[in-house]
Amino acid sequence: MIENHYRCVRVSDTGICPFCYSGKIIRNGSTKTRKQQYICKNCHKRFLDCYTYKAYHSNINPLIIQLIKEGLGIRSMARVLQISATTVLRRIKSIAENIVPPVLPFGKIYELDEMRFFIRKKSNPMWLFMLLIK
Ligand SMILES: [Zn+2]
Repeated sequence: MIENHYRCVRVSDTGICPFCYSGKIIRNGSTKTRKQQYICKNCHKRFLDCYTYKAYHSNINPLIIQLIKEGLGIRSMARVLQISATTVLRRIKSIAENIVPPVLPFGKIYELDEMRFFIRKKSNPMWLFMLLIK
């Protein structure tokens, strides 16, 4: 079981922008639930002092990657992290879009394994390749 180590680094304590690490933050109104909002004069981003929804914590994406490697499903991941399954799916999609393909050096020996699968119907085949560098 993953313990909840969601630490809230309060902006009001540090005085530093969580996006650009600038010290030029000022108070900028409050939310509907009366939480203090801040704005950075350097990058013009708005943020809260401390977020209550766990999906906004900075360490949630590395946790999702770790749980995918462990083989957990979407709904079980949502239960463990105590966030919604839709949020887990969106985060997985954004993480997958930011994966940089590896640079393959020329002149090396590779081992290639392939798998064909279908998405929804047989007329929509997809291929999955796994490349091992020896
Ligand atoms: Zn900033």
